[in-house]
Amino acid sequence: SGFMGAGKTTVGRRLAARLERPFFDLDEVIEKESGLALEEFFRSKGEAAFRDAERTTLRRLLADNQTSVIALGGGTVTNRALRHELVDRTTIVTLTAEARTIETRVKGTKRPLLNDAPPSRIGELLSARSAAYNEAHLTISTDDREPDDVADVIAQSLSRDPVLVALGEKSYLVDFTQGDENVLPDRIAALLPSKIVYVSDSNLERATESALFESLAALAIESTEVILPHGEKQKSVVNVQAIWDVALGFGIDRESIIVAAGGGVIGDLGGFAAATLLRGIRYVYAPTSLVAMVDSSVGGKTALHHTAGKNLVGVFHQPSSVVVDYARLLTLPAREVASGLSELVKLALVDDEELFTLLEANAEKIAGKLSEGALEILAPLVRRAIELKARSVRDDERDEGERLRLNYGHTVGHALEAHGDFRLHRHGEAVAIGLLRELALGVSLGVTPQIALDRTEALLRKLGLKTEVKKEELAAAWHFARADKKRARETIRMPLVTSVGASRIEPLTMDRIKTAFVVA
Ligand code: NAD
Repeated sequence: SGFMGAGKTTVGRRLAARLERPFFDLDEVIEKESGLALEEFFRSKGEAAFRDAERTTLRRLLADNQTSVIALGGGTVTNRALRHELVDRTTIVTLTAEARTIETRVKGTKRPLLNDAPPSRIGELLSARSAAYNEAHLTISTDDREPDDVADVIAQSLSRDPVLVALGEKSYLVDFTQGDENVLPDRIAALLPSKIVYVSDSNLERATESALFESLAALAIESTEVILPHGEKQKSVVNVQAIWDVALGFGIDRESIIVAAGGGVIGDLGGFAAATLLRGIRYVYAPTSLVAMVDSSVGGKTALHHTAGKNLVGVFHQPSSVVVDYARLLTLPAREVASGLSELVKLALVDDEELFTLLEANAEKIAGKLSEGALEILAPLVRRAIELKARSVRDDERDEGERLRLNYGHTVGHALEAHGDFRLHRHGEAVAIGLLRELALGVSLGVTPQIALDRTEALLRKLGLKTEVKKEELAAAWHFARADKKRARETIRMPLVTSVGASRIEPLTMDRIKTAFVVA
């Protein structure tokens, strides 16, 4: 992908030769099939007809399902739906070049969108398309570079296979590894930070013997660390203040970054501190718990607790890069593994029946403290969860529509956590109870089939999660549901499961929701 003159056809052809794969130039295929030169196509049929032809032809090429190299047209990715199909099904490489390089390269060639336009048109089109071009798995400048070199870099990077969270200018990649300690420093180095503030918690430091912070030493970038006490209760402004103090005392500037390495608590604290320091600096997230990997690693939600309830103070601030090292899960205590599995069940329940079935089939093998063997089964499920979350976030970054479905079980779950003063239940444990109570609510409304509730209950049990809570505790937790941040006057837009793997949002009155807190 990339602007006209960025080198798509030249580089694409060489890359295809290197990979010994077929090559297609989308514009050329359309020209050949329509019998019209591009310029003629635009003149006689107009741009809309061209975009139609582009869409149909590209979908046909993709449907072939053979690995190939396709040079897109300069404007192909401006169609959001088509671009996101490419994000899901291909590796997108955006080639970039300065406006003046492009001007030189396209001089004398026929370009329908440039003909007779002033040179400033290149700059205008480039900035109009910049957010779309930024949604790429790899971006390479072709200024002052030989096409063969560019093709080499692309060929070498293909094994990386990250998940792309496509959010225009705020897009980022989630990289995966199992035990390669160079990946995190590599991703950090690519951001060219002036200074690094590393944030983690005491538990993880002990479990990893400070290996993560030490791995950053090779970068030779001025770094400091903030090691916070561990635990859910720590998600408070006091610890954000601790990060602010260290970061500002360390003399951070706009190019500095925070590296948050830990579970969901550290992700939220580090992300919130990054969002607020100097009105927002970048951060890299290395999620180390299962909850953090499957749920908080993607989406940029950051929040702190308040005595009034859970996560009531927060902002959206997307990370610049996320690195998931599955090997971190080997030191995770069994209770934390179960807590993360509960979030996996939630994702499957609202969005992915196949994932739910996979969890059912493998429940015994992935429950409890994880062995290398268990990790082999779990790792692809974690990746799948991250892919689902990335899709949901790109379609609804601010949690205003479809992304709300990922809050399933959380209205009850958050209330239970807050009622237990964040000590009684692990996050995923409270969510497990929340899932069952909200499923029961759906059954009582005639929206959720009983079988969905029964299967979820059986699965959570097999995964080592409690499925019941004292009815007095549940009733007392209701008080915190009234403080739920999703409440608007007397309703909350609640996700409701319609069958295993499918859900929809419905506004429910607080009176209705209260029934989820009452066990007969
Ligand atoms: P956590 O951060 O408290 O981690 C759980 C425990 O595991 C901690 O004691 C931690 O020190 C330890 N730990 C983490 N990684 C470890 C490792 N590799 N080895 C050994 N010990 C390790 O909690 P959590 O369960 O990771 O996350 C829960 C929090 O995340 C909640 O506050 C929840 O609200 C938040 N969350 C946020 C989002 C989001 O989108 N921002 C999504 C889901 C959950």
